Order: sequence, then C-alpha cells, then structure tokens
Amino acid sequence: MAEKSKQAILEVENLTKHFNAGRRSVVHAVDGVSFQIRRGKTFGLVGESGCGKSTCARTIIRIYDLTDGSVILDGTDITRMSQKELKPLRRKMQMIFQDPYASLNARMTVRDIIAEPLIAHGIVRRKQDADEIVADMLGQVGLTREHMGRYAHEFSGGQRQRIGIARALVLQPDLLICDEPISALDVSIQAQVINLLRDFQERKNLSYLFIAHDLSMVRYVSDEVGVMYLGQLVERSDSDELYAHPLHPYTRGLLGSIPIANPKEARLREKSGIEGDLPSPINPPAGCRFHTRCPFAKAECSEELPLLRDLGGGHYAACHLAL
Ligand code: SF4
Repeated sequence: MAEKSKQAILEVENLTKHFNAGRRSVVHAVDGVSFQIRRGKTFGLVGESGCGKSTCARTIIRIYDLTDGSVILDGTDITRMSQKELKPLRRKMQMIFQDPYASLNARMTVRDIIAEPLIAHGIVRRKQDADEIVADMLGQVGLTREHMGRYAHEFSGGQRQRIGIARALVLQPDLLICDEPISALDVSIQAQVINLLRDFQERKNLSYLFIAHDLSMVRYVSDEVGVMYLGQLVERSDSDELYAHPLHPYTRGLLGSIPIANPKEARLREKSGIEGDLPSPINPPAGCRFHTRCPFAKAECSEELPLLRDLGGGHYAACHLAL
C-alpha cells in the first residue's frame, strides 16, 4: 500500500455523493467508486450521460462535499478539509470543462482570465506582473501574445478550449481533471486538443482524469479505464486489456455502439446489448443496477449486488457471470 501511495497522485476510495441526503428523494449520483491515478498517467472514466462521472470529478475536486469515502491527493487526505485548508492544494489539482465558452468569463480579457489564478494564489501581486507568464502560457497552447487583449467570444471553440487549458496549467498542477474536454468541439479540432494535452503530459509528467462518454477517444488517451454505470464502477482495467477483453455486459454494449468504418468487421462485431434508458438515480434498481437492461440478467441479478472483483491481472468487473 505504501508503494502504491508513492506512485499515485490521486487515490479515491469508496467515493459516494448523494444529493438531498436525509430527505425523501435521495439522488444516488455516485456510490462507492474507488480508483487510483498513477503519476504521469491517464485514467479514463467513461459512461453514458447521467451516469455520475462529472459528479465524481466535481466531488474529487471538492466543488461538492463527499457523502462518504475519501480522496487522497499526492499523499494528503483532502476529504474533510475546509475550503481555506484546501486553497494551497488547489494548485496541484486543476480542471478543464466541457463547454469552453461557458467556462470562460465573457467580460474578462484572455490576459485577465489566465492571470486570475496567479493572483488568487499569490504568485503575482498585480495583473501587469503576470504578463510574461501569461504570454509564455499562451505560446505553449498555440496562441500568441497578441491574443491577450481579446475576449472569449472572439475565439473559435478549439481556441477557447486552449485558453481553458492555459488557465488550468498556469498554476503548474500535478493533476488535471478533464471533464469531457472535447465533446463540444468539431471532430477536426478534437485531435488537436488531445495532442496538446498529450504533449503537456509528456513534457511535465502531468496526470489526467479524463472523462468522456466516447469509449473510442478514451482508449486513445488512457492508460487505465473505469466504466461507470448509474453511479457505480462496473469495470476497471488497463486500457488495452479492457478493449481487447471487455468482461462486463455494459462495457461490451458500449464498445458495440462505436461505429466501425469497415463493413466486414462491423458485421462480425457483437451487437450492442444496451437497450432502454438509464434508470433514475433517485431509486436505482436493486441488486445489479444494470439488470433492467442487461440481456444476460438472471434472477439473482435483481437481488444481489455484484462486487467489483479482480478477475486476473488487475482487471476488475462487477458481474455475477464474469469469469
Ligand atoms: Fe447482467 Fe447480471 Fe452481470 Fe448485472 S450481474 S451485468 S444483470 S449478468
């Protein structure tokens, strides 16, 4: 365990987030999620919209307080820290968001947007003192000093995401939480942003929590992958292993829904087993939460919750039938 802690930049144990806890309609947004992110590596978190992956990210970064569980950042337990206690540690963990337009203040220039965290953390006293750092950061994300005086609406979606990345990285964090950072971008721009993130990872030994609903993109960027369904992790493994040998019916269904250009290959591939809608997290199904949509469900599946078990070589799955 001590060895693991030395390597892990983030350790999430039994992370639980319920909204309206103690009231009648409790929303079970995240229920008992555990994983680690190794230094310099990427953990991909994937699942349908509404499965709780963004809530998971926001709870880790302590936008929300945890209902249960723990979060250890670089060896420090931040689970119950006050916002004041957390402030110096926030430099280590930054976030970029799905919608680069909504996440940038429309009334601020690019200079002010990127200088703001430097002032908030006492790295510079005044905006003017940040100009060289801001210009350097813009250069690193493929923009220029000339962009400093412009406003967010004057940029394309891809450029706005580059500004969001510059704002997050100007504090030189160890961990970047990327909450669907490319979902709102054109396909042609997505690869540019991904390549930029990979380049930073290599140069600065950054670790990423990369959240997406698109399994194909997660494969490209991740060393390890966790698959979430209705607030719980149902499968977790090394990325190549998960794509080569998916064990959980939900993961197999997700993989089955990725379009394949080659018609021969597409005919051979297992058809998606996912039908119907995600059930409500207010009253999640008993037993295996996936049993209402699983083509292999047996009687025991609606009664007994399958535990996330190591089925060999660190490949975990939560399914009564997985071997
Ligand atoms: Fe399907 Fe049962 Fe496995 Fe759940 S435990 S995924 S319902 S087979």
